[in-house]
Amino acid sequence: MRIELGDYVLEVDSERTKITYRDIVTGGAEGCGCSYCRNYLATLPQALPNEVLAFFAKSGIDPRKDAEVYEQGPISPGVRSYGGEYYLWGAVVVEPKKKQVLSKGFEFAFVPPSPLAQEQFRGEGSLCFHFDAELPWVLEEDV
Ligand SMILES: [Zn+2]
Repeated sequence: MRIELGDYVLEVDSERTKITYRDIVTGGAEGCGCSYCRNYLATLPQALPNEVLAFFAKSGIDPRKDAEVYEQGPISPGVRSYGGEYYLWGAVVVEPKKKQVLSKGFEFAFVPPSPLAQEQFRGEGSLCFHFDAELPWVLEEDV
């Protein structure tokens, strides 16, 4: 299935991606459970721009099943920088020349799999959706 996100054009095997996500019991953030990860989960789905949520839905990616999410420090009071990875089966058809920014502080790229990929996504044809985001701290507790 041909899917676009920003200036990217991708060929996605959404059926295979959907089936693989059924095999993944918990996401990286949920499995970790530290306050940074719990805060990420608490900001979902708004943490991800609507274009990304629509792309995930079409591609078969479950937003609660990140491979890994990591906190990268404070940006301003109540706002922290996050990075993370989600996986899918597919390939980049058109690679944009410029950095892809969807909303304030949300950047993404499709890159080759890193060692953080879930074991279910280790293999030929796996693609990494990597993002950086500025997210609010929404937990009652402090960092
Ligand atoms: Zn964590």
